[in-house]
Amino acid sequence: MKKISVRSMFIAEPGNILIAADLSQAESWVVAHLAGERNMKHALEFGDIHTESAGNALFFPNVGCGHVWIKDKGIKQWICENCQRIVTELMRYVGKRYNHASSYRMGAEKAAQVINKDSDKPPFFTVTVRQSKEFSAAWHGYFNLKPWWADIETQLGRNRTMVTPYGFKRTFFASWGNELFKEATAFVPQSAVASHALGKVQKELGIKGGLREIYNQLVKPYKPQHKLINFSHDSFILEVPEAVGQEIGVRAMELFRRPMVVNNETFTIPVDGEIGPRWQEMDKLSDGN
Ligand SMILES: [Zn+2]
Repeated sequence: MKKISVRSMFIAEPGNILIAADLSQAESWVVAHLAGERNMKHALEFGDIHTESAGNALFFPNVGCGHVWIKDKGIKQWICENCQRIVTELMRYVGKRYNHASSYRMGAEKAAQVINKDSDKPPFFTVTVRQSKEFSAAWHGYFNLKPWWADIETQLGRNRTMVTPYGFKRTFFASWGNELFKEATAFVPQSAVASHALGKVQKELGIKGGLREIYNQLVKPYKPQHKLINFSHDSFILEVPEAVGQEIGVRAMELFRRPMVVNNETFTIPVDGEIGPRWQEMDKLSDGN
């Protein structure tokens, strides 16, 4: 069967326009604050986390440079303005794969399997188990999540119950061991991001927002002209008349972006917005933040 991009199937009706928005690196933001991980917070706040991970953790660690990555105009690569080292697009890809693998305790061998499974697609990258072990060790050398993982094990040992920053509780019944630890580790960030995006109000902040308010304020009063046509755990798509697209898009992004508190620290996950008649080829939408 020919593979068709799912995105190409979302096209606005004539006279309408699509607004898509997603929370950028949402789970990493929550992980960084749950773990109190300074390098991860820095990467999220000041740069592109996949580039930082490639440059600072995997390819050029411990070279006596704090690395400030600047995107090279024209070609897809990043140059450190201090030491002139270069993170190529392929290096960034490797950084991205280890970012996704490592936070939730995926081992180096499994990471190699998962990455090699995608090696028939661009950038056609393969990794040996030995290299994967080196990448994984380098990643964990730069991002120290082990104390957070240890706290999770302590918490599981106490009552097998994890509580999210939104007050959602889950008790885990799996047998004691690594699979249980993985499940519990992924649960808190994933659940927190889902609550945040859906619009659950965090009691410390009392700020409404998220999908619930987008629906109540920007869709429901204008039905059927305004529609919520897609929602996943960190993104949504609206369809509205083209004439109000820009205005509704900006208001929706503002409602989607709101602070979160984790471990007594308040932060705001950035929102990326796009607008256009066809999901596959949309323009960037900015609300000035
Ligand atoms: Zn540097």
